[in-house]
Amino acid sequence: MAPVSDERARPHRSEELFARASAVTPGGVNSPVRAFRAVGGTPRFMTQGDGSHITDADGNRYVDLVASWGPMLLGHAHPEVIAAVQAAVSRGTSYGTPTEPEVELAEEIVARTPVDKVRLVSSGTEATMSALRLARGVTGRAKIIKFAGCYHGHVDALLAQAGSGVVTLGLPGTPGVTAATTADTIVLPYNDPAAVTEAFATYGDQIAAVITEASPGNMGVVPPLDNFNGFLADTCRANGALFISDEVMTGFRITRSGYYGIDGVVPDLMTFGKVMGGGFPAAAFGGRADLMAHLAPEGSVYQAGTLSGNPVATTAGLTTLRLATDEVYAKLDETSLTLQRMVATALEKEGVPYLIQAAGNLFSVFFVDNTTNEATIRDFAGANAQVLPRFAAFFHAMLDAGVYLPPSAYEAWFVSAALDDDALAEIEAALPGAARAAA
Ligand code: PLP
Repeated sequence: MAPVSDERARPHRSEELFARASAVTPGGVNSPVRAFRAVGGTPRFMTQGDGSHITDADGNRYVDLVASWGPMLLGHAHPEVIAAVQAAVSRGTSYGTPTEPEVELAEEIVARTPVDKVRLVSSGTEATMSALRLARGVTGRAKIIKFAGCYHGHVDALLAQAGSGVVTLGLPGTPGVTAATTADTIVLPYNDPAAVTEAFATYGDQIAAVITEASPGNMGVVPPLDNFNGFLADTCRANGALFISDEVMTGFRITRSGYYGIDGVVPDLMTFGKVMGGGFPAAAFGGRADLMAHLAPEGSVYQAGTLSGNPVATTAGLTTLRLATDEVYAKLDETSLTLQRMVATALEKEGVPYLIQAAGNLFSVFFVDNTTNEATIRDFAGANAQVLPRFAAFFHAMLDAGVYLPPSAYEAWFVSAALDDDALAEIEAALPGAARAAA
């Protein structure tokens, strides 16, 4: 579908709304990356989504490559999801009792992934926080390992930065997180088996769990190399620790299950979110039955939630997952590859150094400085070597041409099944100008 007009409206209404928002909300947003701080300019306030497009408050339409940061796998306002949600809403929005849709959603997750049981929650943050509590409760150990550049939501213990040595205990990653809270968090470089081995040699019998994104997407897409997940699972098992794979971003997005569908490594515990909520707040953590049996009310590890398993959210998620067939995943792969090729062609034409990294249909375009980068970005230090002003220039040129990209160089691009040939043609038309802007 073509933009409403070739003359895109200046974002007056977004500017006005942003000023109002900034008066009543810190930074004018309810989640920091939405504020465009990394790229500058005024965040666009959206009023509508339909299929592959979103429309802002000034009437400008954009091809959407953010997809609400992942959830909108089928595109916006999919008619069957909307109909199911409308029917659910008309029966009431929350009862605080068990309901059938949450059973069906749990069954769907168990059927698609290696977990035996799941507990539903309302955000990815809750899922990872609860998985860690369970791992600590089961093992009776305190320490956890996470990797620099992996994001698991705003869980205090996971907002930790690496200390100065390879294996030092974490330092608070933000004011408000105390040193005591991160004292049991060990932050290691990603894709570095030697660092993991050293951490277990130093703290082995104190480590409750290793948590990792199944394939990181929060430092840009930096996939695990050389069966890193398999190595982590084996190392955990050999040391009596649990391996937690965070599939909040990748789960039900890059295969029917997630990155598990690509590397087949079976974790002890897994976390899910985004796609499984179909655009509503729903997330989950799950794992082996013997581990999940430690959760209240069966066991003694406490975890709860007023809106957990909400009937509207679970209906949206369940309907989304049922529509996400093998054909949909095949189409997403194809769309992603087409897009990657288009971007590569445009950047090469302008001689802009770049690196595209993908995990299934999830990919990132890194604007690298080809004098300092290796052929592969394998960790956070590599991701930090991007030329950020190039990304900002590219982002704004795409935005002005009607393509909405993640407003940060440290994010994945999210395709949806609604991206048809017309939407791809719009992106292709926008790319040469953006590549020139980035040159
Ligand atoms: N884990 C991963 C891998 C994520 O990408 C995110 C969010 O982006 C989270 C956890 C946190 O999820 P939420 O924002 O729903 O709390």
